[in-house]
Amino acid sequence: PDRSDITYFGAGPALLPTTVLETAAKSLVNYNDTGLGLAEHSHRSELATKIVEEAKADLASYLDIPDDYEVLFMQGGGSGEFSATVYNLVNVWVERRRQRILQEAGIGAGKEISEDVILTELRKAVEQDLKIDYLVTGSWSLKASQEAARLVGPEYVNIVADGRKTNDGKFGKIPDEKDWKLSKNAAMVYYCDNETVDGVEFPSFPKALEPVGEDGPIVVADMSSNILSRRIPIKNFSLIFFGAQKNLGSTGITVVIIKKSLLPPAVGTPAPSLMRKLGLPVGPIVLSYETIAKNKSLYNTLSIFDVYIAGQVLKKALATFADKVDGQQILAEKKSKLIYAALDAHPESYKVVPDKSSRSRMNICFRVTHGDSIDAAEKLFLKQATEKGLTGLKGHRSKSSQIPFKELIASSQYPKAMALQTKSRDEVNAW
Ligand code: PLP
Repeated sequence: PDRSDITYFGAGPALLPTTVLETAAKSLVNYNDTGLGLAEHSHRSELATKIVEEAKADLASYLDIPDDYEVLFMQGGGSGEFSATVYNLVNVWVERRRQRILQEAGIGAGKEISEDVILTELRKAVEQDLKIDYLVTGSWSLKASQEAARLVGPEYVNIVADGRKTNDGKFGKIPDEKDWKLSKNAAMVYYCDNETVDGVEFPSFPKALEPVGEDGPIVVADMSSNILSRRIPIKNFSLIFFGAQKNLGSTGITVVIIKKSLLPPAVGTPAPSLMRKLGLPVGPIVLSYETIAKNKSLYNTLSIFDVYIAGQVLKKALATFADKVDGQQILAEKKSKLIYAALDAHPESYKVVPDKSSRSRMNICFRVTHGDSIDAAEKLFLKQATEKGLTGLKGHRSKSSQIPFKELIASSQYPKAMALQTKSRDEVNAW
């Protein structure tokens, strides 16, 4: 089939506007009449710097990112950020504690303190106080929390709430905020704004994470699969990250929006030797926000071609939506409402997995329950959908969680279901 014959619903990598791809294809052969393709130009060249800076500025404009935030282009994907957030924010936690110890000892006011005393105090602080908070509402935040436990040790990881515990053992509902168990002064409170596999999305910024700002918690959000789909109160977050491949561009770059108060000169990085003495991990240099920020995202070779594609998507979005991301939000809400309404109108055939309170506007997880066998019904649904040019509908299904249809109905335990990305040919072609 031709590109225009297909409506593709796959969760990622997602569809890109055809005109962006056509321009990009030309740039891949000969960029701006330089006689060289974009992927052949050095990331150290002036044109590469310009592409990076323009993409940053366009993202800042589209999302209204305030001046006290830095935008970083990195590599390693969302999974790389599961690790990077831990390394960097544990560093910040230790450095702030070190500064407090110095201050309390009267350093700067003529007093002295030995390195041994600092170390003893810090060890005590780490043992008593260091916590990294995770809200586990789906498989991606679960993975992030597991990575933290792997890197620093499970004793430092606090699960604020686990969506499975209040929903029959399955993800599908964000636990009530009054049941969240937040730590005091955690290195961060982490959550995934849209759980791609489970179809669970936070309806808005959680009240429990207020007050926002320097006196509030350090809030970190994974927005890999819903960035650019609604207005976000950036100032409520210390850090937002997302892989580009779902909602911004092609596979290969990761974007971090970070508050400058978490970077030098506001806060330095403790010496690696100190972190080792505290039994805490020292991260790889390519995951260091300080290093990436200092080098304006060009510490090492970056895929400029992928930054270029993201930049072109942003330019198109800026030209398409007069009220920027608000315009895209209206579209995302309209489309998801249409699909949920169609599914809800036929309860004999479809069952939406997540609870109404936590339904994602981006990934619609549902099961086809028509007839005696869910497997046969879904096979038939997928076959007939493909015949109509509706592709990528088969979701992320974990085999181990599949249970027979009758049992499923009886127990109302619906396994991870079909994820449906609400991006369509019409939407993309309309761009
Ligand atoms: N976070 C979310 C919400 C995702 O949907 C994904 C991937 O699908 C990831 C993280 C992992 O991203 P990556 O494959 O870029 O490591």
